[in-house]
Amino acid sequence: MEISYILNELAEERDDYFRAIAPPIMQTSNFAFSKVADLRNAFADEYSTWLYSRGLNPTVDILRKKLAALDGAEDCLVFNSGAAAIFAAVLANVKAGDHIVSVKNPYTWAQRTFDVILKRFQVTTTYVDGTDTDNFRKAIQPNTTLIYLESPNSWFLDLQDLPAVAALAKQHNLITICDNSYCTPLYQQPIAMGIDLVLQSATKYIGGHSDTVAGVLSGSSTIMARIFNSEYMTVGSGIQPFNAWLLIRGLRTLPARLERIDRSTREVLQFLKTQPRIEKVCFPLDPGFPQYKLAQRQMKGACGLVTFYLKAQSAATIEAFCESLKHILMAVSWGGHESLILPKCAGMQPGEFNPSDPAHRSLRLYVGLEDPAYLVADIAAALEAISHLS
Ligand SMILES: *Cc1c(COP(=O)(O)O)cnc(C)c1O
Repeated sequence: MEISYILNELAEERDDYFRAIAPPIMQTSNFAFSKVADLRNAFADEYSTWLYSRGLNPTVDILRKKLAALDGAEDCLVFNSGAAAIFAAVLANVKAGDHIVSVKNPYTWAQRTFDVILKRFQVTTTYVDGTDTDNFRKAIQPNTTLIYLESPNSWFLDLQDLPAVAALAKQHNLITICDNSYCTPLYQQPIAMGIDLVLQSATKYIGGHSDTVAGVLSGSSTIMARIFNSEYMTVGSGIQPFNAWLLIRGLRTLPARLERIDRSTREVLQFLKTQPRIEKVCFPLDPGFPQYKLAQRQMKGACGLVTFYLKAQSAATIEAFCESLKHILMAVSWGGHESLILPKCAGMQPGEFNPSDPAHRSLRLYVGLEDPAYLVADIAAALEAISHLS
């Protein structure tokens, strides 16, 4: 299916709503029935009809069909956050006593799910360096049920070889989940590479305007129906119609935004690489990136997030750099219109900073939709502002 068709036409039954170009926001909690038999059927199979908006809703369904098609998946569910999508996907595939193999440093709240919540139910997790597929194989135990991936990682940007891990998981009958937030389905297609469940934080590029929190989970109709009837309905973490409408609107411009950000990121990257104060720059599609060949093989593109390492003897220097930026905002998240900076040392207690650990000196830059020259000038001025600091 062509991306233009998915984004502009798929699932939009305009005869049902006055031929309006923009779909209506079906802001209703419940749906009326005229026959008891129809209501009975709806109770028996809530995943096939509109009964109550904690389950299915027409505006959300338009979005679901588009997102599933983009992922090349049979079905998808949309949640009120990426974290909720992670939680449902993981919870649906473990029981007490099971074991998970996860790539190291997954998204913070995925790690909290493993280390804090699932631990209470005797589910254990082994974290592995995912740059070598063999590490996943070595970590598999008789009670392993699940392999959890995030490629590229949203901070250090390291990749996992998705077809290779998917093949390994199939040999051992394990479910694979991949967080695809960095690439979006436009730049990476984990399902086509054999991954079972793919998720993304729609807060990032799908919404694209820093005004909505949401998450997407895609997979086979069998798995998705199972998740709908258990985790999705019981936790009640589905997306609301208005937020679904904002995401449909975000999808219209997704390819245009990614293309623009891709071009700008390369310009900013070239500038960063020439700066003596910057020790190292990480970007998956940069020829100097250690997994460049793998990135070229499994990703159609990359954009937005760049991690770089500042030469600094103290956290104060990094803080001064961030606070000297006039246009690039200091905030979490990414994928919106605005460029952002996030220093690793913000997550550390004063005194914990160790300049000989490069990770402590790392900063994550998100390149948004501004003119790249405007961003480069801002970074250049902030580097100038710290030139007298060691
Ligand atoms: C933001 C993010 C999430 C969580 O999504 P929310 O929408 O914030 O709940 C998950 N994974 C990655 C890689 C993220 O960047």
